[in-house]
Amino acid sequence: WRRCEHQSFVGNWKLNKTVREAAALVTSLQTLVADVTDVEIVVAPVFTGLSAVAQALAGGDIRLAAQDVFWEDSGAFTGEVSPGMLKDVGCDYVIIGHSERRQYFSETNENAKALRSERTGKTGAVVKDHVLNGIVGLSADQITSTVIAYEPVWAIGTGHNATPDQAQEVHALIRSLLSEIYSPDVASQVRIQYGGSVKPDNAAALIAQPDVDGALVGTASWEAESFAQIVKVV
Ligand code: PGA
Repeated sequence: WRRCEHQSFVGNWKLNKTVREAAALVTSLQTLVADVTDVEIVVAPVFTGLSAVAQALAGGDIRLAAQDVFWEDSGAFTGEVSPGMLKDVGCDYVIIGHSERRQYFSETNENAKALRSERTGKTGAVVKDHVLNGIVGLSADQITSTVIAYEPVWAIGTGHNATPDQAQEVHALIRSLLSEIYSPDVASQVRIQYGGSVKPDNAAALIAQPDVDGALVGTASWEAESFAQIVKVV
């Protein structure tokens, strides 16, 4: 039976929270999930909140993520932040290739086409394209420390989540692609999260699917109580 050892939940705060609000949110969250074990919990504040949230989290189990990164380490790249700098401020993760980056910041040339195709029912082709492009060149070691999130664009921020069966079908497809590229063993170790309108009342059914290893949560992670409820459905 394949199942990643721990389920993983990421709270994507998007463009929200002042420094003070970010620190307060994560402090409440720590209290609410103090009794949670065997679940990885990650929060992704805006860049300006990273340092304060890192301090609030110091010594605890909640991990820190950034919402974007540039690929060069340093140099003349006005406005960018590098992987080393994110590590330096305390990040273990960074969200890469979120559909909002593709939609508003043209992060891939295929963006408009991909969004249209997905709506017209070509989910399989779009997912395959995104997965294959996203993991090009990653070693087996690198892919097993990567978390893949499947987020149907029509479900993000809309209140309309994929059904557990729909999510499972796509997650199984992603895992079979990983299995072909790497091996069944490597594929079984990669966490694949579902995202798109995950809420306390739908999380349990989604998480119960065999190939759903956690959730990437937007709106419901902006309040400590609702994010804690989601984390606790495991
Ligand atoms: P949502 O956002 O939970 O508000 O749908 C998810 C995401 O975009 O990561």
